[in-house]
Amino acid sequence: MAGAPCLTCGGAGIIVYQEPTFDLGYWGAEMLAVSGNRRQRAARDRMAAAALEYAAMGWPCFPGAHPPAAGDRSCSCDRMGCPDPAAHPVSAAWAHQASVDPDRIRRWWAERPEANIILPTGRVFDVFDVPAAAGAAALDRIGREGLPVGPVANLGDERHLFFVATRGAPADEDEWWSCHLDTSPETVTETPGMRWHCRDSYVVAPPSVPASGKETGWLRPPQGEPLPDPLRLLEVLADSCD
Ligand SMILES: [Zn+2]
Repeated sequence: MAGAPCLTCGGAGIIVYQEPTFDLGYWGAEMLAVSGNRRQRAARDRMAAAALEYAAMGWPCFPGAHPPAAGDRSCSCDRMGCPDPAAHPVSAAWAHQASVDPDRIRRWWAERPEANIILPTGRVFDVFDVPAAAGAAALDRIGREGLPVGPVANLGDERHLFFVATRGAPADEDEWWSCHLDTSPETVTETPGMRWHCRDSYVVAPPSVPASGKETGWLRPPQGEPLPDPLRLLEVLADSCD
């Protein structure tokens, strides 16, 4: 498809269904119903399709909670007052079960078509997770100064996710080091500023739907290029977060 990448779906070759435009004429309600069903189906399929694309890049995936279709809850999970609505894995087994196996991914999303997509970090990539305003300022500077940057996702206009090379999987385990910015899923909501997702953490990836219902998409889609060094990008992001 020609033109700019679709921010809704994320571009990057991630398959996205585009609703054709109809002149409804007198078909009225019936057409709307058909269109609504098709849109629902397309919304469901796009989660599985995106997860398969990530898996094909070697990025393990796991299904996540999502905003429920109806009711007054903000999360599809059964916890009362879920602390991180629509932004956590469906099971504590995510760390062991996250997979790049397409059959497994198809099975998971067949069971839960609307499941958001959880990507574990500290394996193939790490993620700097910053407030959206700081992320936008950093992207401006990166563009102006021609600094190296990799994939960047916008999560519901709330957070920007910068994907970088991981320090979580060194060839020699003695080279592993932790960092005071490291974020764990248990403390993520207590960390409003910069978060560094490395080992034992994860992010929610496009086109997942956050609890706010706003769009999530790629500002800079993954294109299979080598991921940037985290420490260089950290300087830029730290300046923007000050
Ligand atoms: Zn929940």
